[in-house]
Amino acid sequence: MIKKQLLSALVASVCAAGAGFVQAGAITDQMIADDAKTPGDVLSWGMGTEGQRYSTLTQVNTKTVKDLVPVWSLSFGGEKQRGQESQPVIADGTMFVTASYSRLYAIETKTGKEKWKYEHRLPDGIMPCCDVINRGAALFDNLVIFGTLDAQLVALDRETGKVVWKKKVDDFQAGYSLSAAPIIAKGLLLTGVSGGEFGIVGRVEARDPKTGNMVWSRPTLEGYMGYKYDAEGKPVENGMTGTTNKSWPGDLWKTGGASTWLGGSYNAETGLAYFGTGNPAPWNSHLRPGDNLYSCSTLAIDVSTGQIVWHYQNTPNDGWDFDGVNEFVTFKTKDGRILGGKADRNGFFYVNDAKTGKLVNAFPFVKQITWASGIDLATGRPKFNDKNRPGDPSKTTDGKKGESVFSAPSFLGGKNQMPMAYSPDTGLFYVPANEWGMEIWNEPISYKKGAAYLGAGFTIKTINDDYIGALRAVDPMTGKIVWEAKNNAPLWGGVLTTKGGLVFYGTPEGLLKAMDAKTGKELWSFQVGTGIVAPPVTWEEGGVQYVAIVSGWGGAVPLWGGDVAKRVNMLNQGGSVWVFKLHKS
Ligand code: CA
Ligand code: CA
Repeated sequence: MIKKQLLSALVASVCAAGAGFVQAGAITDQMIADDAKTPGDVLSWGMGTEGQRYSTLTQVNTKTVKDLVPVWSLSFGGEKQRGQESQPVIADGTMFVTASYSRLYAIETKTGKEKWKYEHRLPDGIMPCCDVINRGAALFDNLVIFGTLDAQLVALDRETGKVVWKKKVDDFQAGYSLSAAPIIAKGLLLTGVSGGEFGIVGRVEARDPKTGNMVWSRPTLEGYMGYKYDAEGKPVENGMTGTTNKSWPGDLWKTGGASTWLGGSYNAETGLAYFGTGNPAPWNSHLRPGDNLYSCSTLAIDVSTGQIVWHYQNTPNDGWDFDGVNEFVTFKTKDGRILGGKADRNGFFYVNDAKTGKLVNAFPFVKQITWASGIDLATGRPKFNDKNRPGDPSKTTDGKKGESVFSAPSFLGGKNQMPMAYSPDTGLFYVPANEWGMEIWNEPISYKKGAAYLGAGFTIKTINDDYIGALRAVDPMTGKIVWEAKNNAPLWGGVLTTKGGLVFYGTPEGLLKAMDAKTGKELWSFQVGTGIVAPPVTWEEGGVQYVAIVSGWGGAVPLWGGDVAKRVNMLNQGGSVWVFKLHKS
């Protein structure tokens, strides 16, 4: 009884001392919703659920950035190197960063000292398509939560690294894996699935982040039933996704892919989560006449209900592996409209109304696009160049190989997994783009569980001798490319922009660079000793602005890059996180 009285006295005094009493260090839904406005922490992938990757910090700016120096670097160690595509999250003096092979590190931000690490025990036979990467963790309450290559979600205690809950999302032997960072929206944990090259069933799932229990599931293939889950965890029907066989012939939709492998973004004003979807499976488009919804699309999902509110399909009946997974980043226009920008793998930049999905603008952000001559703004549909669709093998005499075509962009995309940034100061998107093409042809294929389900062959080709990558500053309203910074190797890391007038990004050649956001002039760079394929972040602690980047060359390019892989095969592997601050701060 005495204890109870003491406790209530303590609670009363804490409540009196400060508004909004919460458990010490607990990360709330409101804190995550406010993440972009609070530079003292980085609580979400995208540095705010909108995914703008914009910081209000100004200590490091166009004048001072020349004095940026490393503070510490921590190696992930071991023989396990490979691609490091992770964005760190940071709270209460601790950085949480995922690494290749489903590892997660908790690091003291002040010293770079490792507090604990979690190494997920991976079974034999995992099937990640595009390297053993992970893109980051989510923070909620006392937990840090991430997805693994064997298609599980793991929630760890932020202080101790002990497993609090673990859930199997799906069967890794059927090709499922998890590589995206989960997001938190309206108190729910939202995740996608990877595995579009294996004919998996794409979907978005909402869980209780405290327990991992399912709240709703929304398949992204037209024909599947959605579910919500009652208090006992029993599934209850929650409306079909579209109409069976409306956009797919026969049974093809059942193994139709549309994986949600890059995760999503969320806008608190619209209440909608935005998830992009990958290619329809198999790649051979002649097997599946129709639009093949909801592949290669942006889906806006009401987080409260698990229903699709609108969809916009970037590439109907995709025949080039133009996964439409790219991040939909919402922003406000001067007249108060909420729009979203998306730099699609197919080479076009799209601007949609974030509430209705109506197409507002669409224009190329790469120089060469062969599959379509443009996007019809009235209908929202691409103007296909029919001659550029790889041919139908069943129309050839032996039925084995359809006509091969040269297509640009390549299937590695005008842009791939590397997230862009948006600055409300300049009104520009900073897009890590690539100029490359491919020879692509179709072959016969049938679905077999756990086997690659492509029905296509390909070779990636370079287009220009002097560069593949180009960081481009893009005006979403006019479609103008305001400046560009070319790069010899393909860009594969994300972008950060700041109120200090800077744009940060890394290159496979190992340089972390800072550019003037207005002009594109390079103001600073630092060699991290291996390639960068991850997005930088910045935060403030004790009056000092820090910049962090994960380094470690790898990802899809060395595995799938054909002629390009040969051109970049001298790049060294690694696996570290680097932190910088101004020399004088
Ligand atoms: Ca924040
Ligand atoms: Ca794909």
